[in-house]
Amino acid sequence: MITLIKGGRVFAPNDLGTLDILLVGGKIRDMQTSIDLSASDYISVIDGRDSYIIPGLVDSLVHITGGGGEGGFATRTREIDAKDISLAGVTSLVGALGTDSVTRSQEDLLAKTKELRLAGISAYAHTGSYRYPVKTLFDTVQKDLILIEEFIGVGEVAIADHRGSQISASELARLASEARVGGMLSGKGGIVSLHCGDGEDGLEVLHRCIAESNIPITQFLPTHINRNRRLFEEGLAFAHGGGYIDFTTSTTEYSLSHGEVSCPEALAEVLETQCPIDRVTMSSDANASLPDFNDQGELISMSVGQISSLFDATRRAVLDYHVPLDLAVQTVTANPARALGLHDKGRLKVGGDADVVMIDRDSLSITDVFQMGRHAVINQVYQEV
Ligand code: ZN
Repeated sequence: MITLIKGGRVFAPNDLGTLDILLVGGKIRDMQTSIDLSASDYISVIDGRDSYIIPGLVDSLVHITGGGGEGGFATRTREIDAKDISLAGVTSLVGALGTDSVTRSQEDLLAKTKELRLAGISAYAHTGSYRYPVKTLFDTVQKDLILIEEFIGVGEVAIADHRGSQISASELARLASEARVGGMLSGKGGIVSLHCGDGEDGLEVLHRCIAESNIPITQFLPTHINRNRRLFEEGLAFAHGGGYIDFTTSTTEYSLSHGEVSCPEALAEVLETQCPIDRVTMSSDANASLPDFNDQGELISMSVGQISSLFDATRRAVLDYHVPLDLAVQTVTANPARALGLHDKGRLKVGGDADVVMIDRDSLSITDVFQMGRHAVINQVYQEV
């Protein structure tokens, strides 16, 4: 199918003004002030005049096979499905395991990644989990990255968390070098996704790892940086130093009333403090359990992360905190794509993948989604493959 979207205001994510966009065979074939093609059996022409056109969202952390279990078996969370991903405007995502790498496996993660690909989503995954030594499919992280196409990094490895393996700086450096070399040899990012808990030590082990090794700072993507004010400020300093930081959009009332910095507020503060926004990403942490622990480390409540929170946070940043649309969108498109090494993702450009989202200019809600050129959401209705 060939699709021509006419007259939309294009945020690529930078504001390119009003353009027509031509999608052919899963790629963006052309972007011009005016492209003239008539609708036919083979060409779909879509009126984009009431829309902003943005890249498909890139979600760098989704627990696609479900997560949780921290409160016992009854608290295990469900798998995600392609419909929810698509309605959320997400066209690319990275699946990962979390706390549980015993009843959740790499095999299952890989199978689920393949299922989502068959549903039209550009799905990838990380090998490993919270744990160190890392649980892999082959015997090393390098082999997993080189030999398994879907794996693009390792993680989320937990630091500063009572559920983590208390990894040392030198262990982290060795793990990062495994991922980096595996990534280099397979043409992937090979990044280390770091789950940052609420431990007093914050990013300390990451700072030491970078100081004591030759691993570039951009090899790491620490997430949940907005979970409390202390970690948030440490994260801003890390971004000033050239590192990427990731905010989690799924949240709970309890967390927000106990010191979490909401994503819209966090983005506004990034701009206020002139933190380099090209180093800032957001992810949904969808289908993770969101356990709330009290000061004694006791579990007091549990809810489930939502993938729709990714665009909701983007939208709220624009509507409630006056973050410019192009900058808010950048944190869920171009920035995560760059951090993950996904070069054809996260940008609207000729030759790039035809992952496109149309949003209503007035309400800023998602109306249409194209995944590799497939019109997966039409006027807020999901279309089965
Ligand atoms: Zn996490």
